Amino acid sequence: MSVTVRFAPSPTGRLHVGNARLALINWLFARKQGGRFVLRIDDTDRERSREDHERAIDVDLTWLGLVWDERVNQSRRSALYEDAANRLRADGRLYPCYETAEELEYKRKRQLARGVPPVYDRAALSLSAAERQAFEAEGRRPHWRFRLEDGEVRWNDLARGACHYDVSHLSDPVLIRADGTPLYTLPSIVDDADLGITHVIRGEDHVTNTAAQIQIFQALGATVPQFAHLTLLTDAAGQGLSKRLGSLSLGELREDGLEPMALNSLLAKLGSSDAIGPRPTLSALITEFDIGKFSRATPKFDPAELEHLNARLLHEMAYAEAAPRLREIGLDGDESFWSAVRANLSRMADARDWWHICREEVSPVIEDGEFVRQASDLLPAEPWTQETWRDWTRAVQQGTGRKGRDLFHPLRLALTGRENGPELKTLLPLIGRARAWARLQGKAA
Ligand code: GLU
Repeated sequence: MSVTVRFAPSPTGRLHVGNARLALINWLFARKQGGRFVLRIDDTDRERSREDHERAIDVDLTWLGLVWDERVNQSRRSALYEDAANRLRADGRLYPCYETAEELEYKRKRQLARGVPPVYDRAALSLSAAERQAFEAEGRRPHWRFRLEDGEVRWNDLARGACHYDVSHLSDPVLIRADGTPLYTLPSIVDDADLGITHVIRGEDHVTNTAAQIQIFQALGATVPQFAHLTLLTDAAGQGLSKRLGSLSLGELREDGLEPMALNSLLAKLGSSDAIGPRPTLSALITEFDIGKFSRATPKFDPAELEHLNARLLHEMAYAEAAPRLREIGLDGDESFWSAVRANLSRMADARDWWHICREEVSPVIEDGEFVRQASDLLPAEPWTQETWRDWTRAVQQGTGRKGRDLFHPLRLALTGRENGPELKTLLPLIGRARAWARLQGKAA
């Protein structure tokens, strides 16, 4: 069977960098093996799921370039879950329970007080038909638990190696709420089976669910997928990420003008044995990907590292890649413009400032009026090339006796209005003689 993975966010908040990392790793895993990547929207919780969050998930993944081959909403697949629940009921694996939340809490406290693990005691399994009827007559509606089979569940985790779990430490999981709606577990398993998911790659927060889930796959007669549970990303201080974390949400990072490949370059490598560096395309990351490279150390997301990668990516970006991005921000820069400015960008949007300086008006900063006016008299005639700066400044040096910083700095300030920036040999032809001359006269031009 061909490799099929899924990324399964709940649209109850905005995606953050930790979610994006899992999406990316799933996507790279699939692409590396010529497999399929399914986007599954886990929206069975109708109260907490929101359409704007769902739309944002599509926008975020598209921004990162993580194109999906299939997209499903769990909210439209409830018939499948009902059918699966009925099959489990018929096989005696799903049983009705009538305890209220308070009663369960009371049982739990008593177990803890007695020093025994707070595992559900299966009292509901021994209810007689008359007792169940009495509860129903009281107006109680049952929730439904899956009856686990005692014993050890084993799986070979692609990230954690051989795993085994004694399910007698687990409570029979509730699959259906008292209002008849399914919790996350059953829809997830039914969909994994129905969509032919071969590999479930997710966060290690799901490890304890996996033992129970494997038994449910088996009870439904479905093929158990391979699992990989990755260590979760934390923030730079080692704290877990939550969907409410604004600054590390993908939307914020996008609005902040970061390059999607800067984020992909970082997220594909954090927690793996590969060195982190800028990768211009997803194909480079596909080639290098290997799930076996991920270790169990906790990967930390450091915004400074992202900034650094973003700048390096821009500094190394070929014009062919930059051209559409420049157009997106409204600049019609050609290759000479891009080569001149890229080394000075930390965000693509910074190119606007240099565009302004090359093609629009700048208020010059004149430190030494007499000197810059003299220099303006020595400006060569056009056409200007990359050699013009050298020829001109040689002439200015001979004419004025200035050298080094005393020579260059006032010219830079007058021509660009800035202390620093791209090499003037590349900027000068872009500024052009008319503007350069006027600026050297102290005129905004
Ligand atoms: N919607 C679940 C979550 O976001 C999916 C978990 C899974 O991958 O099975 O945690």
